[in-house]
Amino acid sequence: MKVLFATTNPGKLAELEGLLEGAAEVLSLADLEVTIPDVDEDQPTFEGNAEKKARALALASGLVTLADDSGLCVDALDGRPGVLSARYAADDAGRIARLLGELRAVSPERRTARFRCALALVAPGKPAQVEVGTCEGCITAAPRGAHGFGYDPVFEVQGLGKTLAELTREQKAQVSHRGQAMRLMLKHLR
Ligand code: IMP
Repeated sequence: MKVLFATTNPGKLAELEGLLEGAAEVLSLADLEVTIPDVDEDQPTFEGNAEKKARALALASGLVTLADDSGLCVDALDGRPGVLSARYAADDAGRIARLLGELRAVSPERRTARFRCALALVAPGKPAQVEVGTCEGCITAAPRGAHGFGYDPVFEVQGLGKTLAELTREQKAQVSHRGQAMRLMLKHLR
């Protein structure tokens, strides 16, 4: 089976391909010849945005489509940046700088946070399958590690004492929000 991954984020694409464990042949938006519409991620939840993206791109492409919507929810910021994680600043360095700036006066024990990932799978004309994964942790005082993408260098995984950027891709897959959501999604793909 061929599955279209509805993402332009290279970090997500690489992780999702690894997590699929050969369950499907992966197509990215760049592989398509049809023009794909931009989808406005205006829903209040990760689940809503993932389903909206998967539906729109399944309709436009005629392919079974998998979409990911994910982000970081920080308790001391009342759950922000949340669904707006990608729009928090212009690039990863800016997003991290803004986050650490907003948390400057927040003590280590109040820096708890979680990553959430919603995956939506839509076959044209069929109901969506949605699965969610969560990864608990806290925001560090400074970035650590060189792997991964996005907020990985400032997110220390609960119980590991390491940031997501200090883990290999395989180690991250075992504990991450995306890894958990994908393991739940594999049963629908198979
Ligand atoms: P969106 O799902 O395209 O709206 O973007 C989600 C944003 O959340 C990404 O651009 C990253 O900044 C952040 N994010 C999502 N998942 C991860 C992750 O696994 N590690 C680090 N940052 C992430």
